Amino acid sequence: MHRARIIGVSVFLAILSVVVSLGLACYLAWMLAINSTHQRLEALAQIASHQADVTLREASTALKTLAALPLAPCTAEGIDQMRLIALNVHSVKSVGYVEEEVFVCSSWGTVGKHVAPWPEDFTTADGVRVSVNVEPRIAPSKPMMALQYAAFNVLVDPKQFLEVALDDNVKLAIAASSGHLVGASSAGLDKILALFHGGSHAGLADGYLYALVGRGDWIAVAAVSRDEIWSDLRRAEWLLLPFGAITAMLLLIMIWRGAKRQLSPLAELKRAVQQHEFVAHYQPIMDLYNEHCVGAEVLVRWQQPDGNLVSPLQFIPLAEHSGLILPITDQVIDEVMRDLGPALAADPRLHVSINLSAADVDSGRFMPVLHAAMGKSRVRPAQVWLEVTEGGLVDIERARHVLENARASGHCVAIDDFGTGYSSLKHLQELPLDVLKLDKAFIDRINSDGQPCPVTEQIMQMANRLGLEMVAEGVEQAHQIDSLKAHHVRFAQGWYFAKAMRASEFLRFYREHLPSPEPLALATSA
Ligand code: C2E
Ligand code: CA
Ligand code: CA
Repeated sequence: MHRARIIGVSVFLAILSVVVSLGLACYLAWMLAINSTHQRLEALAQIASHQADVTLREASTALKTLAALPLAPCTAEGIDQMRLIALNVHSVKSVGYVEEEVFVCSSWGTVGKHVAPWPEDFTTADGVRVSVNVEPRIAPSKPMMALQYAAFNVLVDPKQFLEVALDDNVKLAIAASSGHLVGASSAGLDKILALFHGGSHAGLADGYLYALVGRGDWIAVAAVSRDEIWSDLRRAEWLLLPFGAITAMLLLIMIWRGAKRQLSPLAELKRAVQQHEFVAHYQPIMDLYNEHCVGAEVLVRWQQPDGNLVSPLQFIPLAEHSGLILPITDQVIDEVMRDLGPALAADPRLHVSINLSAADVDSGRFMPVLHAAMGKSRVRPAQVWLEVTEGGLVDIERARHVLENARASGHCVAIDDFGTGYSSLKHLQELPLDVLKLDKAFIDRINSDGQPCPVTEQIMQMANRLGLEMVAEGVEQAHQIDSLKAHHVRFAQGWYFAKAMRASEFLRFYREHLPSPEPLALATSA
């Protein structure tokens, strides 16, 4: 259930990171394409408006120069001057002189023709009157722009305004600030030019990405069609998609690592500690002389959310290695007191035997935890036995001190698994002990005639000599019991009597195997 959630969340995050990374790369590519195109367009529009300004100023200067000449207009000299200007000033195509609606002369010579005045579109700040779209008066040709000052006028080719180096795909248009279109490289930009008065300077409209620039008397627009941007976009995508893919890969690796860490046995165990997933089972301990139940060994199980019970053999080594055994011991102690506290308080003959790891003994913290759990209940310390294994004890001196304290408080101390690892007889003498638990491995070596193997026999004799009470573990057959009794082993546990069970079942078992009325008294003065 929990694993499925972690896997589900990881898969979701993996998909999200791929979508977001690639999506972000595409979005950045789009922004990049738009930005670079927009910058290009704005630069072109700037150049175009500047060009318009220069053209207007050049033509205006030429007009004013003529008007200021101290020559009578339309004399041979005056016409020469007009012709010089038409030839030398790049933007000026021709020059004319009109007085009282009579076209008197032009840069080509005397004319003397009655003409209608051109409609004026706007007047510049320095008094030049501009007619954007006029029919030339000398010979019919394409529409021109006319500038008039005093009686002089010049004609300017509107193409002049668009003399900007353009990419094939860019469209350009120039309008007077009054809105009159002066020139356009292609049709269809009028609507965009009109947007300028609405305050817009850039954007997407009418299928075009555009930039509008206003300068002096002019508005310039440069635009590319949306389709053109796609090719820029594809270029930017080629550049950015590998980054998106690398980011996605990095995120996927991080998610995979995170999931692996969360799914690791250690992470699972940590979560189990946080969720208090440990339950105590109780294996009855019997008095072999009368087959009465006198107590129980507490054996922890990890109950996973799906109800699966995990054996301590599978998680205690990891818990000990990682230090998680300390909170697990705390939880076991709490649970034992919750499960059996009232029964223990009510019946002084009953005891529980709690397993401690080397780290518990080294830290000594089980003592305050135990006493807090026992609290104000009337559980006697002698009813709580503590099982310690000598293997793993780093500091024997420290262990001795902690166990002496425990015994001084009234608890019984048992040595567990003695003889199974690198046991030391010295430890047996150094540690303050009341009970020796005979491991199942030794009980298994009692043959069917009831004869224990020499090692088992020696351990039993030694325990007797040291005045230690014995509890035999893993008793499965009747002949083992006879042999154990013959060697003064008083207590035993094992499947012959009962397996470990839940608290309620144990209490029922206990009632069915009630001990003698006398409380069990063990010597606690080793
Ligand atoms: P142990 O302390 O030597 O516990 C006895 C083990 O032998 C238990 O296994 C018990 O179920 C099993 N056993 C008892 N009678 C028989 C029998 O007749 N036949 C067979 N085949 N097995 C029998 P379990 O419960 O799997 O516990 C294994 C070990 O886990 C324990 O060995 C103990 O070292 C550790 N352990 C269990 N509970 C705790 C705990 O609360 N704290 C700590 N630190 N260790 C624990
Ligand atoms: Ca034990
Ligand atoms: Ca044992």
